[in-house]
Amino acid sequence: MELTGHHLIGDTTGAVGQETFQAQDPSSQAVLSPAFHEATVSEVGMALRLGQECFDTFRSTTAEDRAAFLEAIADEVMSLGDALLERAHQETGLPMARLTGERGRAVNQAKLFAGLIREGSWVDARIDLALPDREPLPKPDIRRMLAPIGPVVVFGASNFPLAISVVGTDTISALGAGCPVVVKGHPGHPGVCEMLGRAIQNAVKKCDLPPGLFSLLQGAGHELGVTLVQHPITQAVAFTGSLRGGRALFDVANARKEPIPFYAEMGSINPVFVLPGAAAERGASIAEQFVQSVGLGVGQFCTNPGMLIGLKSEFLDDLTQKTADAAEAAGPATMLHQGIAEAYSEGLDKIKSIEGVKTCGASSVASDATKNQAACHIFEANLDTLFDHPELKEENFGPSSVILKADSAEQLEQAAEGLEGQLTATIHGTEDDLQKHGKLIRILERKVGRLVFNGFPTGIEVCPSMHHGGPYPATTHSFFTSIGTASILRFVRPLCYQNFPDAGLPVELRNKNERGILRLVDNAWTRDDI
Ligand code: NAP
Repeated sequence: MELTGHHLIGDTTGAVGQETFQAQDPSSQAVLSPAFHEATVSEVGMALRLGQECFDTFRSTTAEDRAAFLEAIADEVMSLGDALLERAHQETGLPMARLTGERGRAVNQAKLFAGLIREGSWVDARIDLALPDREPLPKPDIRRMLAPIGPVVVFGASNFPLAISVVGTDTISALGAGCPVVVKGHPGHPGVCEMLGRAIQNAVKKCDLPPGLFSLLQGAGHELGVTLVQHPITQAVAFTGSLRGGRALFDVANARKEPIPFYAEMGSINPVFVLPGAAAERGASIAEQFVQSVGLGVGQFCTNPGMLIGLKSEFLDDLTQKTADAAEAAGPATMLHQGIAEAYSEGLDKIKSIEGVKTCGASSVASDATKNQAACHIFEANLDTLFDHPELKEENFGPSSVILKADSAEQLEQAAEGLEGQLTATIHGTEDDLQKHGKLIRILERKVGRLVFNGFPTGIEVCPSMHHGGPYPATTHSFFTSIGTASILRFVRPLCYQNFPDAGLPVELRNKNERGILRLVDNAWTRDDI
């Protein structure tokens, strides 16, 4: 596929604005062709108007139509072949094996959502039948289900060019719900965005759906994102990225005349607590897996464990030594782009400057700044240092982490209590540890979206029970997940029909349960007809 550098607005490919930007290969700094146009305010309006115009038609399509559409997207992504992976490798420096796995995740995710939509019970249909003879007042017939919210704007992150970008959970879940989508392409991988966007355009055409239901706008400045969030047609926004960017756009969404839901999934420090029994039983293997988790994807994961906390003991000292050895053996690798590599390097300098923090282990091979490489760094300090220097709790996006040594169980609890909202926390422990440290677990339950036991937080299963979210600042709304099928709930709202004639109701709420979905009828779950 030859890249054009143009926006995809409905079924057209074009660009009005003359300003352009280009992607860079982070491993060589080579500028990649073509030049991508910056979207203009009028193009934002065009894309959102098309979405609005087709919303009623799109939301009236059958569940089968939308499920087949999601499957067609998956097929179109696969038919982009190796060219997609090669462009992603050029634009992000991520290894081909990782990108192949990520494409599998993106495609399987689309198929998982197709299954959800086809089965249909996700609409949460609730029916309370009329009681005309009820005294003192008759009870009306009340029926409700979830209905799509309208045009949604999606911002992908730089670190998942295939699975959290143009064809990520946000786009797939919004389309599955029946919401038109306008994606703001990530400027770190515009070529990949165009390829994935054209895969969606092809799927729209093949499924004979209204073209306005999907648009992709590209831009390398903040104005485009702000304009999309401010636009009155936009009904919800899904964002994955940094706390700084997420918070700035969240404030824009709330400052609108008509505020809209802004679902931001942002960074996290993902603390790992190693309790004494686990440190004594298997400190060496925890150390090895910890360094692997810290280094995975060059540390460029929102679930990267940025902190390990344990109780002072000879076992924790051994674990620290093994961690240092593993860090020294880990080689440097290229980060996603120059900005992220520079921010990581500045973050390391900031940590090193904190009194009481010392480097415990770092890659023995120096990183090459001309290739935007980052090297693994593990630091250590007494836990007191965290209380005196809360900046240690800030995410340093990359392969670094800090081991903090506590004097007492109370100090562990104090550290947990002082945490801001997190995507995850991890506990390594034995049965005995869990009993002795119940209070710590209770505190962590208040702080995080996902608690991991005897594992590591990197690697997020895409499934119905996954919750990838957490209290602020991990996200801007802790009720919702951005990964897994429950993520569709961000793009719908309950809609209630009172005393509607059967034929005027959506198919899911009619007396005959044609789709065989699970419904709550007079407070009892059933798939039966009424
Ligand atoms: P980013 O710099 O925040 O960029 C994300 C998107 O937001 C880009 O399209 C960017 O475009 C836009 N943007 C950023 N700041 C903006 C502002 N002030 N106004 C308007 N638009 C703005 O994030 P990133 O560097 O791509 O990703 C790395 C971060 O994402 C890390 O902190 C990581 O932990 C987090 N992350 C979180 C998750 C999760 O699920 N929670 C997953 C992956 C990554 P422009 O630069 O063109 O404005």
